Amino acid sequence: MSKKTALITGITGQDGYHLSKFLYEEKGYEVFGIIRGQNNPRYEQVKKELPFVKLIEADLMDVSSLYHAIYSVSPDEIYNLGAISFVEYSFKNPILTADVTAKGVINLLEAIRITGFEKKIRYYQASSSEMFGGTSYNRPEKGYNEESLFHPRSPYGVAKLYGHWITKNYRESYDMYAVSGILFNHEGEHRGEEFVTRKISKAVARISLGLQEKIELGDLWPKRDWGYAGDYVKGMWLMLQQDKADDYVLATGETHSIEDFLDLAFAEIGIKDWKPYIVRNEAFTRPAEVDLLLGDPAKAERELGWKREVNFSDLVSLMVQHDLKEQSKLNGIE
Ligand code: NAP
Repeated sequence: MSKKTALITGITGQDGYHLSKFLYEEKGYEVFGIIRGQNNPRYEQVKKELPFVKLIEADLMDVSSLYHAIYSVSPDEIYNLGAISFVEYSFKNPILTADVTAKGVINLLEAIRITGFEKKIRYYQASSSEMFGGTSYNRPEKGYNEESLFHPRSPYGVAKLYGHWITKNYRESYDMYAVSGILFNHEGEHRGEEFVTRKISKAVARISLGLQEKIELGDLWPKRDWGYAGDYVKGMWLMLQQDKADDYVLATGETHSIEDFLDLAFAEIGIKDWKPYIVRNEAFTRPAEVDLLLGDPAKAERELGWKREVNFSDLVSLMVQHDLKEQSKLNGIE
């Protein structure tokens, strides 16, 4: 039997890393990744870390480049992970966020239709828990599920909601196998350094090594449902292997504050009272904050057989230990 082929947008991102490794190493796929930009600085890094990925230049904002990528690869599966994905940045660049995170989805779906491969290709859309917005009136006790009301609280969340609905619309209109995974926060050693979890794990490692004194952070009370990215990409793949296309929530069913994350991260380097190391910086607060996100993954557990494996404390430990090694190496510390 010939190898299955996957085309991934967002190959330079955290999930692109985990998903491409999973598809290649555990499922034997031939993996193609879309990389954007003239002389993308992450090109060399991807070549080094993921040498098995065949890179194709294209941009979610350019339909013709997407068409050519899809036509030349003729993939069995497309995973649309590409996005302006940082909530804080989306407030500062709301129109760019709409162009990439919302309009990029229809560009990709239309490019699939123009090739005429829409009945052959299975499509995964990276939807987000930020579409729920965490407001108290729409929050079910056991956590958000596939039926919960949406109330996005950022340009990112609003853009993701467009991507979510247009994916559903193409499934219903053109009988495409197109699914949305509504994923709650997932982190890990490949998380972008702008995200709060990685910012903390890196800073804690540097404090431990004497390379940094303080961490500048915004609000510490927001709560998130945090899992490990390596577990979540398996759920993405499972969603494309079903008899019928459907949408699923992936979450841990637990919620923790940023303070909880700080507790565990500093404990990893033997510090109990972390407050003296924190400097509040208003620049890291948001015009509209999401208080609490908690997901209910019951449907994915029941129908896909998916379950997260890494728990919260192991996740924090894994990230701090990774950054201790990385920072030691980068700074020539034995
Ligand atoms: P990430 O690390 O921020 O990666 C985003 C990717 O999008 C990067 O590879 C980036 O490429 C690419 N991209 C940006 N603009 C693009 C454009 N115009 N054309 C093509 N690619 C473009 O995100 P992630 O954490 O891996 O998340 C993957 C997806 O899941 C994203 O859509 C995110 O919004 C969604 N999601 C993530 C989480 C989470 O907790 N991680 C939760 C729910 C949903 P460059 O290197 O060129 O910038």
